[in-house]
Amino acid sequence: MTTYFKDDKGTIHFQLFICPECGSKNDKIRGYEFFAKDLEPSDPWSQEFEFINCPKCIRSIPGSLGYRYGKTKTYDKAKKKWNDKFKNLFREYLVK
Ligand SMILES: [Zn+2]
Repeated sequence: MTTYFKDDKGTIHFQLFICPECGSKNDKIRGYEFFAKDLEPSDPWSQEFEFINCPKCIRSIPGSLGYRYGKTKTYDKAKKKWNDKFKNLFREYLVK
């Protein structure tokens, strides 16, 4: 499954999942029913409504970074945001 956004000219771009941690494109394990219900508003996960569990690096990736929607439009930005805000939180949802 893919997600998409419209640019200024109305062109729809399909965004494929790319894991900002390891670069994997496997998004078979994803979910919406979010585990981050009782988070502080300051927690970056509190803004997320979707996540992908990357089977390669075993991390839970926020949808806004994996599919690069909202303000995060490039893989480089997604990677930076991941490293800055999410990487050290370890709110992982994977059953290993
Ligand atoms: Zn990964």
